[in-house]
Amino acid sequence: MPELPEVEATRLSFADRIAGGRITSVWLGKPLRWPLGVVPGKLAGRRVLSVRRRGKYLLLDLDEGLLLLHLGMSGSLSFAESLPPRGLHDHLDLQTDKGLLRLNDPRRFGAVVWAESEQAPVARKLLGSLGVEPLDEGFDAETFHAGLKGRKSAIKQVLLAGDVVVGVGNIYASEALFLAGIRPTLSAARISKPRAAKLHAAIRQVLGRALAAGGTTLRNYSNAVGERGNFQFEAKVYGREGLPCTVCGKPIKLLRQGQRATYYCATCQKS
Ligand SMILES: [Zn+2]
Repeated sequence: MPELPEVEATRLSFADRIAGGRITSVWLGKPLRWPLGVVPGKLAGRRVLSVRRRGKYLLLDLDEGLLLLHLGMSGSLSFAESLPPRGLHDHLDLQTDKGLLRLNDPRRFGAVVWAESEQAPVARKLLGSLGVEPLDEGFDAETFHAGLKGRKSAIKQVLLAGDVVVGVGNIYASEALFLAGIRPTLSAARISKPRAAKLHAAIRQVLGRALAAGGTTLRNYSNAVGERGNFQFEAKVYGREGLPCTVCGKPIKLLRQGQRATYYCATCQKS
């Protein structure tokens, strides 16, 4: 599933090249998670000003309104002057005079939604409950610790929920908890201030490294120019069940938390 580093790597791979481009036509295929919210033809003539990211949403700022784009479980974008004929899982072609932006999404949990502005109800509904950006200055250890207070759920679940801090997906939550030496099942409310500070630093470190590696490619993620991520080769616990911990040598364990796989070291993450 594309997480924050993959979405940001995708953004960086086409944002500068599509900026300033005028939309000439829009083609929509099978229904995605949410409707576009405007007749596709209405987007023709609009100019793409910039591409921003908020959480796992890409925001294509147009000269009128914006498009919110989510990659869902299996989505990926391509951007090029021309692309091969559409395949079965291509569900959006946004033709601009700078190139063609295409969304491929086999599972169709992704979405492209038009909003009049970021204050429009649909944009507020999608973006309004998102927590602070983990790589922004606004994400500091103290605010993070305060956000964990009163949350009785397991820390990993709280990280994935995205309302304390946004975009720390499954792989990165496992990796950050390992780096901070915190057991993924520990109640978030029980994490002391010093340990929260350690986890805060670990989250930033893991996401920063993942971004530098172009994200993680487990199955078929690639950015808008077809480059795959390499963070999976750096993972210390994720996907390493039974393999020796790089710190203590004991086998990495796997458990399920809310349907998601959690990898951890029972020795390095005692509590
Ligand atoms: Zn260990």
